[in-house]
Amino acid sequence: MNKVTHQFITEEYEGIEFLNVPDAELLIRARLFTANAYAPYSNFKVAAVAKLVDGQIVKGVNQENAAYPVCICAERVLLSTAAMLHPNVGIETMAISYLNENGSSETPISPCGVCRQSLVEYQQRTNQVIRLILSGQKGKVFIVENVESLLPLSFSNKSMM
Ligand SMILES: [Zn+2]
Repeated sequence: MNKVTHQFITEEYEGIEFLNVPDAELLIRARLFTANAYAPYSNFKVAAVAKLVDGQIVKGVNQENAAYPVCICAERVLLSTAAMLHPNVGIETMAISYLNENGSSETPISPCGVCRQSLVEYQQRTNQVIRLILSGQKGKVFIVENVESLLPLSFSNKSMM
C-alpha cells in the first residue's frame, strides 16, 4: 500500500494592489459585474469574468430560481456562454468575485464541486489551462494556476477509455 499526497499551490496576495495590471483589471470587472447577478433568495451575488486566449471577454452571474435546484452558478453561466459564442477558444484566466448582501465580502470564495467538474472539462476540451483569480469585493486575492488542481482524481473522458 502506498499513501499518495495530492497537493496544489495557490498564490495569495493581501490585496488587488499586488496583482499585475491585467489580473487586477479582470478582477475589477468581476467585482463590478456582481451587480448583474440574479440572487433574490440568497442575496449572494456571484460574478465570473474570463479573458479568452484571443483577448475577448466573457461574463457570467449566478441565476437563482424559486425552485432552488434550478439555480445556475456564475461560473457555469460563463462557460455555457463562452462555448456558445466562442466555440473552441480557450479561457486564459477567469476572475470570480461576489457580493454578500447579508454579510461580508472580504474573503475569497472558490467554485463549488459542480463548477469544478465543469471547469476541468472545459479546460480539457479546449486544451487550454484555465487560471482562476478569486476574491471578494476587497481583501485577499487567491490565484489558482490550473483548475485541475481543485479537483484531484477527477472523473474525465480519460476515465472512460
Ligand atoms: Zn458552482
